[in-house]
Amino acid sequence: MFPYPSAAGLHLGHYYNYAIIDSYCRWLRHRGMTVFQPFGYDAFGLPAENYARKVGRDPVDVTYENIEQFRQQMVRMNTCYDERLVTCEPSYVKWTQWMFTRLHERGLAYKAWSEVNWCPSCETVLANEQVIHDHCERCGSAVELRNLNQWYFRITDYRDRLIAGLDRIDMPESTKRMQRAWLADLKDWCVSRQRQWGCPIPIEGETDTLDTFVDSSFYYLRYLTDSDTEFLPEGCYQPVDLYVGGAEHACMHLIYARFIHMVLFDMGIVPQEEPFRKVIHQGVIKKDGAKMSKSKGNAVSPDDYDPDELRLYLMFIGPYSEGGEWSDQHIVGQRRFLSRMQRWLGERGSDPIDLSPFETQVDRDVRAFKFNKVVSGFMEFYNRHKHLRPDEKMARQVEEMLRVFAPGFRAGHSGGEEGGKLLTGQTAVA
Ligand SMILES: [Zn+2]
Repeated sequence: MFPYPSAAGLHLGHYYNYAIIDSYCRWLRHRGMTVFQPFGYDAFGLPAENYARKVGRDPVDVTYENIEQFRQQMVRMNTCYDERLVTCEPSYVKWTQWMFTRLHERGLAYKAWSEVNWCPSCETVLANEQVIHDHCERCGSAVELRNLNQWYFRITDYRDRLIAGLDRIDMPESTKRMQRAWLADLKDWCVSRQRQWGCPIPIEGETDTLDTFVDSSFYYLRYLTDSDTEFLPEGCYQPVDLYVGGAEHACMHLIYARFIHMVLFDMGIVPQEEPFRKVIHQGVIKKDGAKMSKSKGNAVSPDDYDPDELRLYLMFIGPYSEGGEWSDQHIVGQRRFLSRMQRWLGERGSDPIDLSPFETQVDRDVRAFKFNKVVSGFMEFYNRHKHLRPDEKMARQVEEMLRVFAPGFRAGHSGGEEGGKLLTGQTAVA
């Protein structure tokens, strides 16, 4: 799932998603597969607009500053993502408006008066899901009810198909349960927002913009093309094999994306009803027993750590879907492990090592998202073989395997001790 480029920059939760899934992709490439690993920015939205208004600036400038910060952090993270789009750019806005127009033509977008949730502070309508105990999810203000003329997407027409489709997706059972419950009480999707920093509704006289969940309901398809004339040119469709993001997106985003994909299926633009073959959620990294947050003062910044040590540590911290408890003491263990590997692989000999059982084991663990077992597997491998001196070829093979999970690693060098170094020739984010 692509990020919202907030002013706070890339946080540890992003890192847990993007760095570890980058290693997953690198591993599949190591095994000979071709992997398309796209990235983008969900750039419109209230926080940038609210902040820009507060400080008297243009939201576009604020947003691009934030994106630039994310880009630099992605480079430092040393990933292979291919940046494909930013949703506030005219080349993307065009397709968000195209999507609205197609739904309108099919009778799936309509305008109606109704009582809606209104945040007086954000000055916009909120979806039911954005109201938590009668308060705005974004700013915490008490939400009012107002009678307003709003645009809706007729998602209720797709209710039965959205429920039936759940049987065909490989997705955590907890998420399927939440989607079924949410679809027990589905209302049409209110998509108009009384805000400036969003995609304008392409209807004459409209001043409202579209809910940013519309922008994010089809972006994965626009990753596949930069055609300016066709939404999805013939022959470029690929299903999303693996979609990774937080469990907090179980309902809104993951249901909206499925709905829009079903509409595109009915239009003959995509050959399958469901957009994602497999969905997984990364777990939550906690500190002092609580979810990290700036306001609680327990947030750890990825910028303060060596990218390889941090990546290995996050892999090691617990089962990927469960996350774990952060410890500054334990991350040092990864530094020691990398130093040992550097020294060991820097000393040449002619001892034979059979790498294939280990490679099979790593392959099994990576494909099961058991990254913690991958790291402990490397440590066991080292302990079993540290008395041996591999030849040049064998040392290179082990190094290449380890670089999948610690891309800056070099045998016989003393890198990895200090942060901020890009040691690999890999292109990071374009
Ligand atoms: Zn608000």
